[in-house]
Amino acid sequence: MTMTSLGLPAIRRDAGDPAAEMPRSGPLIDTFGRVATDLRVSLTDRCNLRCTYCMPAEGMDWLPGDELLTHDELTRLLTLAVTRLGIDSVRFTGGEPLLYRRLEDLVAEVTALRPRPEIALTTNGLGLARRAQALADAGVDRVNVSLDSLDAAHFAAITRRDRLNDVLDGLSAATAAGLGPVKVNAVLDPVTGLSDAVELLDYCLRYGYQLRIIEQMPLDAEHLWRRDATLGADDIVTALAAHFELRTDPAPRGSAPAQLWRVNGGPATVGIIASVSHAFCAACDRTRLTADGQIRNCLFAADETDLRGLLRGGADDDALELVWRAAMWRKAAGHGINDPGFVQPQRSMSAIGG
Ligand code: SAM
Ligand code: SF4
Repeated sequence: MTMTSLGLPAIRRDAGDPAAEMPRSGPLIDTFGRVATDLRVSLTDRCNLRCTYCMPAEGMDWLPGDELLTHDELTRLLTLAVTRLGIDSVRFTGGEPLLYRRLEDLVAEVTALRPRPEIALTTNGLGLARRAQALADAGVDRVNVSLDSLDAAHFAAITRRDRLNDVLDGLSAATAAGLGPVKVNAVLDPVTGLSDAVELLDYCLRYGYQLRIIEQMPLDAEHLWRRDATLGADDIVTALAAHFELRTDPAPRGSAPAQLWRVNGGPATVGIIASVSHAFCAACDRTRLTADGQIRNCLFAADETDLRGLLRGGADDDALELVWRAAMWRKAAGHGINDPGFVQPQRSMSAIGG
């Protein structure tokens, strides 16, 4: 099968054509030399919470069932990513990945790939108490559990659901199942967030969880994000430093999105993911696959590359590989949130996969 018969982007080898330089094998690289080794896979756009910074209270249109990748399509693309594209770390996310019915099967299938990638999960924790052990047995290595406040009223206001205790149960089950060190992801509320952060760090230190505070990004479904209505990394560090001794972690950060701070002399750390105020795009090592089979080379990409259509049109693995490579080759230098002409992507976080 030729590229043109599939309607793939033409990668010509004319002089002056940037795509002519794209490597056809080896790591998944872009024109800036960044190598993507970390695949974020959204398993569903659905969720059982309605976090204000992510989803509307109601009225979200779900992806139609026939547009979602089937389990077999998903495992085929994951196999290709690991065995041909150099992906060494797979994170399942969503929407809420625990709503994906065959998650344990999928994890076991990815665990069986060689070289075996590291397998992680980002979850809101609802139902994790019941499933943590089965997920660990299937091969999940690490989990991040999202928790923005320990105050039941704040939690319910942020998530629009009264489920704090389920999340806390999920956290302890994850530790008991050996999925530690468990990370806690927190997006702070602009009003209550600084005091929530102090309580969260205290709690995480007590239970051995690693707190990661994420700056709120313009990825909400209602496009209500305003820079001046969110908390920035500097505000958060100042608030925490009033209660804990913080020192920047001397360990090299590499491609990790979080700037780490040693707390009270260490070894415990708190991480701040300052995607807006201190962007780390130059070190990005991610590629993303949405639940409906689109490749996104950035959370904030304006366009996507359709692998589902190619798969269903009979494309072979060589063709899929080339299209995935071309999608990443085109990755922009940065997300552009701080540029005057920035336009928020059409899809919101729950539909992209955070
Ligand atoms: N439902 C799962 C969860 O909440 O962990 C997985 C999907 S969620 C989209 C992944 C992560 O994205 C969560 O930690 C969530 O807090 C974060 N997130 C969602 N919307 C965000 C936004 N607008 N800015 C920053 N982080 C966001
Ligand atoms: Fe659901 Fe996660 Fe979005 Fe909250 S952040 S609404 S838990 S997908």
